[in-house]
Amino acid sequence: MLGMVSLAPKRLEEYRDIVGDAVIAELRELARPLRGLRVLHVNATAYGGGVAELLTALVPLMRDVGLNAEWQVIRGADEFFQVTKAMHNGLQGMPFPWSPDMWEHWLRYNLINAELFDETYDVVIIHDPQPAALAQLVGDRNGGRLGKWIWRCHIDLTDARPEVWDRLRPFVACYDGAIFTLHDYVKPDLHGPRVYTIPPAIDPLSTKNTPLPLDEVTAVLRRYRVDPERPLMVQVSRFDPWKDPLGVIAAYRLVRREVPDLQLVLVASMAHDDPEGWEFYERTARHAGEDWDIHLLSNLNGVGNREVNAFQQAAQVVVQKSLREGFGLVVTEGLWKGRPVVAGNVGGIPLQVQHRRTGFLVNSVEDCAEHVLCLLQHPELAGEMGAAGREHVRQNFLITRYLRDYLRLFRTLDECEPSPQHLGVAASVAHPTAGGEGYEQSLSAHPGRRSG
Ligand code: UDP
Repeated sequence: MLGMVSLAPKRLEEYRDIVGDAVIAELRELARPLRGLRVLHVNATAYGGGVAELLTALVPLMRDVGLNAEWQVIRGADEFFQVTKAMHNGLQGMPFPWSPDMWEHWLRYNLINAELFDETYDVVIIHDPQPAALAQLVGDRNGGRLGKWIWRCHIDLTDARPEVWDRLRPFVACYDGAIFTLHDYVKPDLHGPRVYTIPPAIDPLSTKNTPLPLDEVTAVLRRYRVDPERPLMVQVSRFDPWKDPLGVIAAYRLVRREVPDLQLVLVASMAHDDPEGWEFYERTARHAGEDWDIHLLSNLNGVGNREVNAFQQAAQVVVQKSLREGFGLVVTEGLWKGRPVVAGNVGGIPLQVQHRRTGFLVNSVEDCAEHVLCLLQHPELAGEMGAAGREHVRQNFLITRYLRDYLRLFRTLDECEPSPQHLGVAASVAHPTAGGEGYEQSLSAHPGRRSG
């Protein structure tokens, strides 16, 4: 068996006050014919990063509505995770000198994991590229696959390097279905799986997202020597070039010229599948230099979910200056806490940050600094944007909507035999309605990948 992740139970009923009766009723109705469905999620790590965050909430809720859901993590060693990190970067568009032995490492670890795969499920959902070869390898090993296999891609593939995507593509093509965060991320040359578009979501009842009493927020700040009386900008992200912590420091320095008592907190969790993290941490620390108002914090000095929550709640401005971002759960988290968010105009961020309404979308260090300054100088505007952002998240990006999309998807799977023409099906295409609020679901068959 792969590594089983044990999870605390969750009850859908507890979400009623936040999402309302209609949402709860719809979820129960959708789940009724799916009772007992055996569902397995597989990814690379049980904590650190957005995927782990999502599965921690989604899997217990799937269980609560009657599915037999599990979450398992693959096994790997440093050489494997170094390759998968390079793969991740390559899929986001970063050039890398690939060698044949890197692909061999990736395949070898997938093979080891395929051999550990010893149960059958109705639906297997494989997250991201690390374990992507499992569908094919498990099938090869058993002389055919049982159940439906779905590849869930959390990455923005728009500018994927061909040398990486061309290698990965045949492994993805053999899935029954593939889920992407945005329809724009679907590669036009991916033929085979049905395509679904489902943006991620946050759990409003998790330790990270439930409101904390003010005295607890203050106590957390003081514990990390952050002054609760002075203005604060916060970015919570892995130390990774795509999250641009160096750019955040540069923007903070520009704002400090006008707001000399500004403080910056950069929180990063060091994920197990992120060997680059340490190297980039060091670069960020050097960049911060001797400025004691820049606080570099991580899980290693005790910053867990509660502390992240406190920093996001305390921030006058939440920043997410990403250069690439599949979705950006941290943006959702900041908006949910009623904070205006200044964020890179990339990937899934514009779904959440509606420019001038729930925050500001920015394209450079100067742009970022200008908008952070604007929010610090206009607290009433910050308050209005924060309130709009919270409502936007409530309607579109809570875990109940995510659960709904999966339940809808499962109900389409019986029709999921790839046709001879390799028809694609978009189930759950998210697109803002004319008023900018609300996301519509559509179940529509369409040939090709990008259309529809
Ligand atoms: N996170 C955290 N502590 C950290 C850094 C990140 O708990 O020090 C969480 C963050 O709150 C969010 C997730 O990890 O829930 C990151 O997800 P996101 O989609 O923003 O980025 P990813 O890391 O998946 O690229």
